[in-house]
Amino acid sequence: MRRRLSHAEELLQSYGIERPEDIDLETLAFCCGIQDVREEHLDGCEAQIIGHKDKAFIIVNSKSSYERKRFSIGHELGHWHHHRGQPAICRADEIGNFDVRFSAIHPERIADDFASNLLMPEYMFSPLVRKCEHACFDAILEFKKRFNTSITATALRFVEFSPEPCILVCYDHNGNRKWFKPNSDVPSKLFPHERLDRDTIAYDVLMKKQNSSRPNSIPADAWFSNDNDLSRYFIYEETIRIHDGRILTLLTWRNERMLENLF
Ligand SMILES: [Zn+2]
Repeated sequence: MRRRLSHAEELLQSYGIERPEDIDLETLAFCCGIQDVREEHLDGCEAQIIGHKDKAFIIVNSKSSYERKRFSIGHELGHWHHHRGQPAICRADEIGNFDVRFSAIHPERIADDFASNLLMPEYMFSPLVRKCEHACFDAILEFKKRFNTSITATALRFVEFSPEPCILVCYDHNGNRKWFKPNSDVPSKLFPHERLDRDTIAYDVLMKKQNSSRPNSIPADAWFSNDNDLSRYFIYEETIRIHDGRILTLLTWRNERMLENLF
């Protein structure tokens, strides 16, 4: 059965857009009735859309990074598509906020999902991910460059279509887990530790002994509770530092015996 396209993908396909390089957000916005996308210094909000009937304009925070502005434009287009007629003034913690993922029907989550689908549509992203041998940050950084998206948004999208079972997990500067996202190959009962274990290589990155780490094999009990005697299994961990002292770690399984025993 053919997969149903998302609204954002339908929009891209209606203009024959087939390559990431051709996702020109301002032109797409114009085609959707957005008369102008402008940058301004915004206090207390990251982006907003102001509209009347079928016309509107979008303002994004001029201080944000290029990738963040693109995600914000996609997010506001999501509001325009799904919540037209309602004012949308979006704070920074409402756009691409992965700490507190809103429920699937929350307007901010709907707008975020629209942005993600618009910037990294499955029909482009998934076939490229399938060509990757491993889930790793080298591959994710290539996708980030090609799709002009943030490292976090790109990594989250990559995990969805990953060629291997994997979990993406974010820790704050104190080593407290902020959020994690497993792909569908990972049992839902597997939760990375709430506090980053000192035996992980990620801990060295967090403590600034390393800037980032390459994929390293490590006993699984460094990452998960040992109820199932996980010390006999090995997983791969790889870490990259992001903003505010946070780290992103990608945990991958190149041997699925542990997962088979947990399902
Ligand atoms: Zn919003």
